[in-house]
Amino acid sequence: MAEIEIFQEEFPSLESYWRSIILFGQNVASYKFALAKSLLEIAPLGKNALTLEDLSEPFSRHLCEHIKNFPKQVTSGSSKFLDTCKAFNDGEISKDRLLAATSQMGFNNVIDAFHVVNKKDIPMRFYQKDYGRRNKKIVLTDNIFKLQTMKYFDDFTNETESRWNLVETAWELGISRNLLDVQYNEKDKILFVNDDFRRKTITSARDALNGYQKGKCFYCFDDITVNGSENLICDIDHFFPHTLQPMMKYINIDGVWNLVLSCQNCNRGGGGKFARVPAVKYLTRLHKRNEFLIKSHHPLRETIMAQTGASQSERIAFLRATDKNAVGLLIHRWGTVNKGMEVF
Ligand SMILES: [Zn+2]
Repeated sequence: MAEIEIFQEEFPSLESYWRSIILFGQNVASYKFALAKSLLEIAPLGKNALTLEDLSEPFSRHLCEHIKNFPKQVTSGSSKFLDTCKAFNDGEISKDRLLAATSQMGFNNVIDAFHVVNKKDIPMRFYQKDYGRRNKKIVLTDNIFKLQTMKYFDDFTNETESRWNLVETAWELGISRNLLDVQYNEKDKILFVNDDFRRKTITSARDALNGYQKGKCFYCFDDITVNGSENLICDIDHFFPHTLQPMMKYINIDGVWNLVLSCQNCNRGGGGKFARVPAVKYLTRLHKRNEFLIKSHHPLRETIMAQTGASQSERIAFLRATDKNAVGLLIHRWGTVNKGMEVF
């Protein structure tokens, strides 16, 4: 929990607050993701007062889309509203009825809860609630319009989607959380799980990792692009180089614990890392990242623990041993200079 506070104290930027909602809000239902996606969609239209009717269309559309693939969108019990979304998907009710039901029931648990992170309201708000007797509205604050001017605005939607996919996959698999073993496919750059021997794609590895890295290279903090053309997009880098796998069969080098996003230059540019072992300060950074995902109950928590150790001391021992073996095999260390401010 303390890690989350440190995260906010170190980087109290607007983007950090937004990301904290997506990454650390309570995961008992997916309404927060649907609302986040709706707000990101509506903000560019410039309208600041939104009635629940205005919100109903995008909100229910995002939920209905997700329910198609993952019927389970709450952790416990049932929801009359979600049943209505299912009925719409099955063609049993009209869009008008769906929208009416959404404005009536859909927002009961999300409008107040949206800004709650780690059991407490965050000090930054993206909207204010304005429930009059007749008209229930939310009023968007400048903060959400400011988010929109940021270079990474488009990434926020993908990150929300990615996080939503991770959370619903955990639920879908019956939350046998200690069995949730998220794997990485190098060729397609995706995270997946094997469910009854079927491979199930969860999300893009880039979108999943970028929530922590905030659009910066893991090594030099230069700006990176997670969704873009081949020649601009960031690399998914194996911290301990992939070439080690045949010599180190006892570790999963493709594991999420070992994956970071890096700019192309750090990975394979002039003076790039290639198959060298990152300097010790980067190892500390990797440890911090992995501990962060574990402590924040990120859906990747169980996967990282399964790959590197159940307790923090085991995980430190694992990273030390891996580093020692890697340097023993590859000899050279690698480091670079910071191109941007250290943000994690
Ligand atoms: Zn870099």
